[in-house]
Amino acid sequence: MQRTIFDADHELFRDSVRRFMQKEIGPHAERWREQGYVDREAYQKIGEQGFLLMWADEQYGGSGLRDLRYEQILQEENIRHGDAAFYQNLHSMVVAPYLDKFANEEQKRKYLPGAVSGESVLAIAMTESNAGSDLAGIKTRAEDKGDHWQLNGSKTYISNGILADVVIVAARTDPDNRHGIGLFIVERGMPGFERGLKLKKMGLHGQDTAELFFDNVRLPKENLLGEPTKGFVYMTQCLAIERLQVAIGSIAAAQVAFDITLEFVKQRQAFGKPLGALQHVRFTLAELRAKLDTVQCFVDQCVMLGNAGRLSSELSSEAKLLASELEGQVVDQCVQLHGGAGYMDEYRISRLYTDARVSRIFAGANEIMLEIIGRSLGLDERKLT
Ligand SMILES: Cc1cc2nc3c(=O)[nH]c(=O)nc-3n(C[C@H](O)[C@H](O)[C@H](O)COP(=O)(O)OP(=O)(O)OC[C@H]3O[C@@H](n4cnc5c(N)ncnc54)[C@H](O)[C@@H]3O)c2cc1C
Repeated sequence: MQRTIFDADHELFRDSVRRFMQKEIGPHAERWREQGYVDREAYQKIGEQGFLLMWADEQYGGSGLRDLRYEQILQEENIRHGDAAFYQNLHSMVVAPYLDKFANEEQKRKYLPGAVSGESVLAIAMTESNAGSDLAGIKTRAEDKGDHWQLNGSKTYISNGILADVVIVAARTDPDNRHGIGLFIVERGMPGFERGLKLKKMGLHGQDTAELFFDNVRLPKENLLGEPTKGFVYMTQCLAIERLQVAIGSIAAAQVAFDITLEFVKQRQAFGKPLGALQHVRFTLAELRAKLDTVQCFVDQCVMLGNAGRLSSELSSEAKLLASELEGQVVDQCVQLHGGAGYMDEYRISRLYTDARVSRIFAGANEIMLEIIGRSLGLDERKLT
């Protein structure tokens, strides 16, 4: 279906992003999967193109382009021609927005230019081994020691965990208040900040998902982001845009899975004719096509609402829910249509399948999306009972 949200400038931009992804990212993807992380230089190369934190003001090195369509194009082309494990969007659109929204001028001057150039890779550490969906249950503790904060605890499943130079860490600042959480900027090399092993995963093998440990890390007072007990509110605010990013990635991956499968069923012969000549195959792909067009429209509309500052938490949750569920359905049916080839690593569809599974879990499991949407309907057990 023709998409109507892009103009000529966006299409030109898409062409240059596509060329970049085809030349600088895609050819390295297999090696990155084997080594378990993306080359640090990839961030510097994309930074040189001006494609990181495009929204950042010019004084920090950015383009001041606050138009989510550019970020959407970057993610779509990264997934189609680059590598899904290259988390340029986590860097630009999930972590850096915390600096944009809650950092003071001094912090922006210190951290944004390196993030824009790609010299400094970003991560965000909220999840702990005993607190994921229930974020208010985190145990990592930051104690106010007068002239500094002392950080103790650990985090797990942290994307960019090994490469990251700057990590925004959620830590409890008020043990008596369940939502008494602060956000702290932790830098590579700070004494007491250690990384655990790179975690072995089902998919996204090029992503350096890792554990992080904090043992009496002495944080200067100026490394606190915003107010010391407002971190939970800040995370809630930023998670809406993060969920839209997941939706953009999920529908983009589903479109790729569909396209390569459509090509496959036209080529692959069975019973003396192409697979696509079988009515079941035709109906399967026809139904997926209709669903993909519908969800793509919804995601595009959310992007435009995001540009207008009117994307609610419920709508971004709906987008994440619909796109990631459809991604799961599409990759599963597309593996089936590939037959045994679909189970083989050399066929891209098998990697799209394993990479897709996490979309329904991270950035808030889809059950949490249902809670957010359900509560917005007034169906909140805390208020109804
Ligand atoms: C590859 C990967 C990358 C990640 N990257 C990051 C990162 O960069 N930073 C970060 O902080 N975290 C990251 N995470 C963590 C991710 O956000 C959490 O795994 C996710 O929020 C789920 O939390 P959990 O694993 O603790 O599951 P749990 O909270 O234990 O939940 C397990 C399951 O229980 C069900 N469930 C939970 N609560 C409810 C409820 N209220 N109602 C109904 N059902 C419920 C859901 O099915 C859920 O999947 C990443 C995870 C993965 C796998």
